[in-house]
Amino acid sequence: MKNYKLNQISSIVNGTLFGDENVIINQIFFDSRMIVHPANGIFFALNGNQKDGHQYIEDAYQKGIRNFVVHEKLEHFANANFILVNNPLQALQNWAKYHRKQFNLPVIGITGSNGKTIVKEWLNQLLWKNFSIARSPKSYNSQFGAALSILQITEKNNLGIFEAGISLPNEMEKLEEIIQPTIGVLTKIGEAHLENFENQDELIQEKLKLFTHVEKLVFNIENEKVYQAILENEHLSKIDKFSYGYSDFATVKIEHIESSLTNTEISILHNQEKFTYSIPFTDDASIKNSLICLTTLIALNVDYKLIKEEFSLLLPIEMRLEIKEAINHSILINDTFNSDLNSLRIGLNVLNQQPKEKKSLVLTDILQSNLSDKDLYQEAANLVNAYHFDEIVLIGEKITLFKNLFQSYVRSYNSTEEFLEQFKHQNVDNEAILLKGARPFKLEKISSELETRSNDSVLEINLQNLVENINVYRSMLRPTTKLMCMVKANSYGTGSFEVAKTLQNNGVDFLGVAIADEGKELREAGITIPIIIMNPEQSSYSTVIDYQLEPEIYSLRVLKLFIQKLQEKQISSAYPIHLKLETGMNRLGFHEDDFDELVTILKNNSQVYVRSIFTHLATADMPEEEAYAKYQLNRFDKSYESITKALDITPIKHALNSPGIVAYKEHQYDMVRLGIGMYGYSEYTDFMEKYLKPVVRFKTVISQISELEAGETVSYGRRFTAERKTRIATLPVGYADGIRRSLGNGKASVGINGKLAKIVGSICMDMMMVDVTDISCKEGDEVTIFGNSPSIADVARWLETIPYEVLTSVSQRIKRVYYKE
Ligand SMILES: *Cc1c(COP(=O)(O)O)cnc(C)c1O
Repeated sequence: MKNYKLNQISSIVNGTLFGDENVIINQIFFDSRMIVHPANGIFFALNGNQKDGHQYIEDAYQKGIRNFVVHEKLEHFANANFILVNNPLQALQNWAKYHRKQFNLPVIGITGSNGKTIVKEWLNQLLWKNFSIARSPKSYNSQFGAALSILQITEKNNLGIFEAGISLPNEMEKLEEIIQPTIGVLTKIGEAHLENFENQDELIQEKLKLFTHVEKLVFNIENEKVYQAILENEHLSKIDKFSYGYSDFATVKIEHIESSLTNTEISILHNQEKFTYSIPFTDDASIKNSLICLTTLIALNVDYKLIKEEFSLLLPIEMRLEIKEAINHSILINDTFNSDLNSLRIGLNVLNQQPKEKKSLVLTDILQSNLSDKDLYQEAANLVNAYHFDEIVLIGEKITLFKNLFQSYVRSYNSTEEFLEQFKHQNVDNEAILLKGARPFKLEKISSELETRSNDSVLEINLQNLVENINVYRSMLRPTTKLMCMVKANSYGTGSFEVAKTLQNNGVDFLGVAIADEGKELREAGITIPIIIMNPEQSSYSTVIDYQLEPEIYSLRVLKLFIQKLQEKQISSAYPIHLKLETGMNRLGFHEDDFDELVTILKNNSQVYVRSIFTHLATADMPEEEAYAKYQLNRFDKSYESITKALDITPIKHALNSPGIVAYKEHQYDMVRLGIGMYGYSEYTDFMEKYLKPVVRFKTVISQISELEAGETVSYGRRFTAERKTRIATLPVGYADGIRRSLGNGKASVGINGKLAKIVGSICMDMMMVDVTDISCKEGDEVTIFGNSPSIADVARWLETIPYEVLTSVSQRIKRVYYKE
């Protein structure tokens, strides 16, 4: 921004200056949260929706701002300069009007109900090589957004592109005075915002006020009301008009439009000459917006034939930066749309607001600039150096030449590929990362490495909720009761390592897995706490011993075999084992008539020691079977007593699984074994709803939406027939992903945008279809197979099974993604 002296601003806005006249101002702030480098900044205390801008003065002052435009005198702010005005917004606007008058350049003023920002951005994409453009940042088109935009104009610019947006009658006049457009562009007039206007005619009249002094006007000739209004307008009827449409009177006459799957070819006639261009979009709005752009190029006297190529490269615009969860608890901000200094400034600001101590930046060559490389990268470095970065990655042959300008720790690469070759996931750790780069650098390759949820279909595991659930169970136990967590079957399908690591970090005493190989994997991944193998196969004893896993021993035969293995391996110290007692489950375990021999063997053997004795309840989750549970617990008490007395030992005693903890916590003994509960499910639904949080969500996205007429059918075997006009969404998951085929044909539903959509027709191997006729949704929208709604319990009910089976059935080809909130 251009330099202004404080007294100059004061006289432009007709204010009263208190303080130092000669302070130089070249930055404007209105949101105190956005202040990073306050030097030469002035803060406008603008009134927001409900808030008086004066409320933020304190914060702005704390952040180093010393210059203010206010409507009340400032007291108690040492060394603050302020300009007192009646209305700070009006002052800003007056300053902008004055500023605009200093420059004699073509200014395109864009208004309309839809498409203002996209047309502005596309014009920039088409023209940045030909002009040095000043334009509205983002969608800054309001009463103060337009003023701020205009104040960005500098001597270097030779074209301005600004948008004007209104929501109330009589706003446009002020915007016209601020922007002072010389070329008017009218985009689509829709029904939007009509609520504040009497009717569409009034809306059109209001919009046309932006063009009160333009020399040229660009519009769609097909909108008869607009065309009529223009012809009847005193000023507009006389100026040069540039229109597009099918009419023979159109400057750009549409000859032919043909869309393929991804592109549209548009042929037009201008000055009797045919011209064909292509855009990488197929929707109607994009086609019209491209025609507006083309017509505007003609109004600007730009030879559009020379930039035919640019049309085929037009990019969609992201109005907001994408902020995504990334690996290792990081946050990713993706900004690869624009490649200029202004968007770098915005991106840095957003990054600065992320709640992470550690911040990193990936920055490529900046393409959209007319500055010399030296000036460009010096300015970029100035912006970047205002922040603290733990690491900066520079990518591109140009920017790397200037790496010495950047103050943080810098690594530089000539290409994205070169960077990715050495990229290691482990090096990313709990940080906020800004990816800021030009399209040709394909930073999306980096973002897909960093994103946790790049896959369409994933099983999301919320480790934070897992920990909270564990703490709920812990709170029901005595402080001395040990906690064993069951991570068998890949942690009930959620993936063993991440869950096990979380458990280990949270002070869990034991982990339980089903087979030795699961234990081995955990050891190899760095799990060091005791791991019990619940069902060790004879052939795996070697693995058990080699990886210091602790076997469940459930029979005399198994005990003898295991001791034999220890002897074979010449293990001299006593090896921990866990005795499983049969008390009523009739699955595995020592029976009472085994006890004598069991005691004899253990007495005469120093190769093993009994670390724990346990049993398992058959009906812990069934209140109606309380008597049976009590019978089991009673039998267990007696058995434990008989064995430990005979051996004179006191091993850890345990019996309860998750529902057991809820129902029989007086029998928690020395340890409990928590399984499904930590994943957020309990058969005791009151308890679950009150205390547990869902941990697992199976989600996917809509691949395609089709419109069916009544009578049309869906999927193999035509088992669904549309009874009315029906919208069908196809999802990219099927029975090979663990969605059981029996859920099809109306049996089950999935969640889309807060509503349930019935699965219709037969579920296929990799796909399934759902009825979204009554749900507002589009292709690419997220779909919940299970999670909050439907819940795992709902799916279990539809399948006539239990949540355990639903959880463990999700196919391994579905990526597991972990996050903490
Ligand atoms: C799986 C298992 C548990 C955990 O059961 P939940 O119902 O999931 O809490 C406890 N003990 C044993 C022996 C198990 O096999």
